[in-house]
Amino acid sequence: MQGKMKQVIMEDIGKLKIIQSDIPSIKPDEVLVKVEYVGICGSDLHYFEHGAIGDYIVKPPFVLGHEAGGTVVEAGAAVTHLKAGDRVAMEPGKTCGHCEFCKEGKYNLCPDVIFFATPPVDGTFQEYVAHEADLCFKLPDNVDTMEGALIEPLSVGFHAAMQGDARIGQSAVVFGAGCIGLVSLLALKAMGAAEVYVVDVLDKRLNMAMKLGATGVINGSQVNAVEKIKEIFGTRGVDLAIETSGAEKAAQQSVDMVKKGGTIVMVGYSATGMVTLPMSNLLNKEITIKTVFRYRHIYPLAIKAVAQRPHDRLPRRFGC
Ligand SMILES: [Zn+2]
Ligand SMILES: [Zn+2]
Repeated sequence: MQGKMKQVIMEDIGKLKIIQSDIPSIKPDEVLVKVEYVGICGSDLHYFEHGAIGDYIVKPPFVLGHEAGGTVVEAGAAVTHLKAGDRVAMEPGKTCGHCEFCKEGKYNLCPDVIFFATPPVDGTFQEYVAHEADLCFKLPDNVDTMEGALIEPLSVGFHAAMQGDARIGQSAVVFGAGCIGLVSLLALKAMGAAEVYVVDVLDKRLNMAMKLGATGVINGSQVNAVEKIKEIFGTRGVDLAIETSGAEKAAQQSVDMVKKGGTIVMVGYSATGMVTLPMSNLLNKEITIKTVFRYRHIYPLAIKAVAQRPHDRLPRRFGC
């Protein structure tokens, strides 16, 4: 499809501008997607406000956005599973397929990944995006394209729950009730966790956690969260903790809250990149620490989970 489209470019730190640019042309294995919704990720905000995340430095003009849903308007000659009119969620990372990590199935660790809105690769804040068809997942009729965009953060939640080996009947604590904390809660519930408590310092966020099915919430600025979990679960603690807040205190508290032999999944990045943990207690309890970098092969199951809406309190839209 030829023509012009609107594109939002970051032209400097804190400065966005809408420009006209060419509609991208597609390769045989790609589809052209008319973008309908794009989530604003914490990383987009960070690039917008600071111009960099670690070694990734924005060189303007740069296009932000990687959580996208839309409708296919054109399919490349080699594409067989998608056609114009199909609504899709777009997984943002294109990997090499040949390296050790890709071959092991851990493609999210591919060193040559090309990921939307990670400099120098442009993102999806534009009307049309050309994307590898393999990374565009068709949405069922009862999942809309806004939900399609939010499959991206939901996939992080599922990856966290799966890294933690979450399973039916377990007890868990999620630290942080921002978007990733809430999707971790949804993933844990979908995977059968019986009791999920959410810790945050903002009541507004905790209220959303309750709406999305948390068993209970704890405002860590008002009560000692460790004591509260001990009140509920005794000295045994919970099976699993997922730390999404990036707060050092939360990471430390998670060690006190999980049971002996339990698992902690670290998802949140701390402001300094460093976290001090109570090592003796960690060793005494033989706790497993797992970490999360994005996700791998989770879009199909996350889309199915949304289509099923397994939890009766899961609203039509879980926008967070
Ligand atoms: Zn994101
Ligand atoms: Zn690779």
